[in-house]
Amino acid sequence: MTLFIDRLQHSFFDQFRGQGDQHFSPVMPSRLDDPVMVSSNALLAEELGIDPAELNSPELLELMGGSFMTANIKPIALVYSGHQFGVWAGQLGDGRAMTLGELPVLDPKDNSLSEKDRKHQLWDIQLKGAGPTPYSRFADGRAVLRSSIREYLCSEAMHGLGIATTRALCLLDSKTQVYREEIESGATVCRVAKSHIRFGSFEHFHYRNQPEAVKAMADYVIERNFPQWADADNKYFLMFENCVFKTARMIAQWQSVGFNHGVMNTDNMSIIGDTIDYGPFGFLDAYDPEHICNHSDNQGRYSFKNQPSIGLWNLNALATSLTSLISNEELIDALKQYEPEYLKQYRQIMAEKLGLEEYQPEDESLINQLMELLQRNNVDYTIFFRSLSQYSEANQRVRDQFIDRDGFDQWAQNYSARLAKQSISDASRQQKMNAINPKYVLRNYMAQAAIEAAQQGDYREVNLLLNVLQSPCDEHPEAEKYAGLPPDWAEKLSVSCSS
Ligand code: AMP
Ligand code: MG
Repeated sequence: MTLFIDRLQHSFFDQFRGQGDQHFSPVMPSRLDDPVMVSSNALLAEELGIDPAELNSPELLELMGGSFMTANIKPIALVYSGHQFGVWAGQLGDGRAMTLGELPVLDPKDNSLSEKDRKHQLWDIQLKGAGPTPYSRFADGRAVLRSSIREYLCSEAMHGLGIATTRALCLLDSKTQVYREEIESGATVCRVAKSHIRFGSFEHFHYRNQPEAVKAMADYVIERNFPQWADADNKYFLMFENCVFKTARMIAQWQSVGFNHGVMNTDNMSIIGDTIDYGPFGFLDAYDPEHICNHSDNQGRYSFKNQPSIGLWNLNALATSLTSLISNEELIDALKQYEPEYLKQYRQIMAEKLGLEEYQPEDESLINQLMELLQRNNVDYTIFFRSLSQYSEANQRVRDQFIDRDGFDQWAQNYSARLAKQSISDASRQQKMNAINPKYVLRNYMAQAAIEAAQQGDYREVNLLLNVLQSPCDEHPEAEKYAGLPPDWAEKLSVSCSS
């Protein structure tokens, strides 16, 4: 069988090989003992032009388990630095991830490879948890099954919600023992992304006083991801401005679905504005802007409500690292666009969640009053918005979620008046609301249920959740148990940062 691996290209490897390996290190995966396929992502395989039969082949299992290499695989680990919790952390890098190569997507019509695709539509194929690299510092380069299930499911859940993110092609379990707070089984996730370049990739060279390496990195990103700007005089500015816009939009979307990333260090921020590096993330149950999903985040730096401003803090850090390429005036001009873009995106999404055709300035108070009510009444964020399309004075289901019924009634009066100003039919509004307000998000307890079953060798729940979360606004009768309030035990769940 010809594996998709035979189609891999190596643009990063080829571009930076001649530069004393200062951008990356060639590496070799360490094999997992007795790897088994927990789940493979047929939907993504199809998008990438990978034959589903290939996904379940013994060769792929060996490859993803780190024990099968062909001449066309050139595994590399990338170096980067970063600000962690606001403090310069110096060199980090791919401590447990190896990019095997970059996959050009075939034209589904005739399986051909257009010239454009050959160069510019490349997807990194990366193995996460494949053993130590020169950037592992004192750690083992492994990932445990628990955290790998969380990353695998959440990245696909975010994609299902329409949020820019890295993807995941498959997930392996194994008999390899990995030592964390207890012994856990080693796993790998095959992460797929249009870029793995982070804000910290630029910071790394800036703080080493290597402006030519900063430029080489920017040229690489532009050539690979933004070929339309390759000949523009202000191409570096365009790359940065795009990052400002994409980051603002991504975080507006996070806020709109109640997603708390948890570790927004600059090494976990993508230059193309994808959500990347899923660790102790969490989706809000009851609406609580103060929520902190990362138990190591004592100050709440990365709390839910802080995410938009941390996005700007991180973009400032990126801007600093690009001062050798872009003038201060231009950097400031681009940064100034972050807040208005964030607000524009957030307001428009929230208006749509409320079934409003278009955001009007007077909707701000409608939205703010609602958020305040949700918080004060401990209302479940996802369930509330999903139920809202069914709101009517005759239907008590929405009202019953509030302890302060009078407060809700007051808000609902304004809401009904606002809806009445629109010409759209109720049926069509309800349909649109159900297409944007998910019925399913990956709550911690759901991931936990899948993890506990998988740790006993039963992978059905992982696969059920994958299927449900890939279309979270659809009805999934087989997963009705996950559409309600989280069980009481979910409150005691603490997500460990160790992964
Ligand atoms: P994170 O907070 O997960 O984004 O990780 C921060 C840094 O630690 C990155 O450079 C990772 O590659 C590295 N890292 C995390 N876990 C491990 C591990 N088990 N082995 C080696 N490096 C790791
Ligand atoms: Mg990271």
